[in-house]
Amino acid sequence: MAQIGEKLNKEFNDQVREELDSAYIYLAMSAWFAERTLNNLANWFNKQAGEEYEHAMKFVNYILETGGSVNYEALKEPKRDYENILEIIEAAYEHEKYITKRIHHLYQVAQEEKELSAYPLLLWFLEEQVEEEDQTAALIDKYKGYKNDFNFDHHVKRD
Ligand code: MG
Repeated sequence: MAQIGEKLNKEFNDQVREELDSAYIYLAMSAWFAERTLNNLANWFNKQAGEEYEHAMKFVNYILETGGSVNYEALKEPKRDYENILEIIEAAYEHEKYITKRIHHLYQVAQEEKELSAYPLLLWFLEEQVEEEDQTAALIDKYKGYKNDFNFDHHVKRD
């Protein structure tokens, strides 16, 4: 049976917090849009927050399946005083780049600790981060093509 080591267990607990912090950040962004009736953008970020919760649970499940212990650390209060749409979507992109660095770090720790069983999970996240960065960068590109916030919002669909 794969048994998670102490060092990776600690790193994974930190990542659970990072993913839940991500959810919190995106919920605050969603609220900013909802307060301005930019409802498609509010929905987009609300869905994103739901995905972040799922990311956190992937790490939680791995910890539990490998005999580790789950520690839910305190979350940070998310920023709420954004000036405009561009500031928000650029912040989302920067945040995803930060999360990618975190996943790279986790992969390096797993290698150092020879925790081969953790590789598939981390490879899934490496691939997921390519998508996360791409879709937030795409939002910035798209925004630059619109002069009106409501017009932009109208074209941001997410199922
Ligand atoms: Mg995530």
